[in-house]
Amino acid sequence: MKRIGILGGTYDPIHHGHLRAAEEVREDLELEEVLFIPAGQPPHKHRPDLTPFAYRFEMTRLAVEGVPGFRVSDIEGRMPGPSYSVRTLERLRAEQPAEYFFVLGLDAFLEIETWFEYWRLPRLAHLVVISRGSDGERAFREKAREVFPEVVEEGGYLRLPGAYTLRFVPVTRLEISSTNIRRAVRRGRSIRFLVPESVRRFILTHGLYR
Ligand code: ATP
Ligand code: MG
Repeated sequence: MKRIGILGGTYDPIHHGHLRAAEEVREDLELEEVLFIPAGQPPHKHRPDLTPFAYRFEMTRLAVEGVPGFRVSDIEGRMPGPSYSVRTLERLRAEQPAEYFFVLGLDAFLEIETWFEYWRLPRLAHLVVISRGSDGERAFREKAREVFPEVVEEGGYLRLPGAYTLRFVPVTRLEISSTNIRRAVRRGRSIRFLVPESVRRFILTHGLYR
């Protein structure tokens, strides 16, 4: 079975922080593919200024174009209602059977109980929690045991009996955020080298974030 990583995000816009983290996870877990999934309607973000899906999808597509092992999926743009990860995963598994690795930041994992039917996540995919450096590993383990008390230690990662694994992967976290990029554009400042050049051009051409 193909090993596929899933990196969901608002991607408003995608930036080099996302891309570098994805590259390190791909290498570390020996994934054949990393699937970037722009959120349809992100349930956790209350942003009236959210850029329409078609633009966020196109920027993500431009960012991964020509990058070996990187791909973009429009699956959440095709599904109605709020984008819940368990639903996306179910749909993906139906469309393309594979061994999926669902990647999320430690900050998101620490709030996992606020996610729709979060307990089903490790029954659909491995959970890969990423964070800068290894200092977050302790917080990851504590939270994992709190939320999934049945987890057992298994060679460097945690396993839920009858389900998938939960693991921590430290990555280089570049201090780049979409919020700061949007703010820079609004102020007429340069965003060169924060995002791929094709994405920078797209933002300027379409007058996004003004
Ligand atoms: P915003 O500023 O609008 O919240 P963001 O930069 O955090 O945007 P998201 O689209 O929310 O980007 O992030 C998608 C995923 O990428 C999340 O799991 C998040 O933890 C992770 N991520 C965001 N920025 C970085 C970064 N600089 N390095 C590594 N991972 C990142
Ligand atoms: Mg964020």
